[in-house]
Amino acid sequence: MAMRPEDNLLGKIAVAFGFVSPEEMEECVRIQRDGGNPHLLGTILLERGYLTRDELRDLLEFQKEKLSSTDTRKVEREADRMFGFLAIQLGLLSQDDIRAACAEQAQLAKRGLRFRLGEVLVGRGLLTRGQVEEILRRQQGYLVICPKCDKRHIVFDREPGEKFECDCGRELLVPD
Ligand SMILES: [Zn+2]
Repeated sequence: MAMRPEDNLLGKIAVAFGFVSPEEMEECVRIQRDGGNPHLLGTILLERGYLTRDELRDLLEFQKEKLSSTDTRKVEREADRMFGFLAIQLGLLSQDDIRAACAEQAQLAKRGLRFRLGEVLVGRGLLTRGQVEEILRRQQGYLVICPKCDKRHIVFDREPGEKFECDCGRELLVPD
């Protein structure tokens, strides 16, 4: 699939945060690929009405944060370690499960196949996609939905317990 890496990341983030369903994302990726459509994935999501302009802006901002790291592989390794740690903490997996999955991940990498730890764990049947998304949500940030105006805020640069104000004026709290 000839996709821009930034688009791929945007798609993953949008799905991980529940802005769009995997099916909707697939549809948009198909449109992008088949239509000879020069549009960015974000534009297609906007055109199909799957994202609002505000949501797209938030997602792009979050993506920029993720892409600004100079050494992606190092960051990914670090993130995978945290992922494994969280999975154990949540009681989903044992230390042995993680070790086995890391070994498989390393084997695959030797063959030039780079998979994230979560993907390997799903492949081994140890986690469901839903569980992976839940862990990634905890790991990458929080989705705070304003109870007054329903706006979705992606929170990744604030401390748990910190307060911030929605555009509608309602005070919101970063969850622990
Ligand atoms: Zn609001």
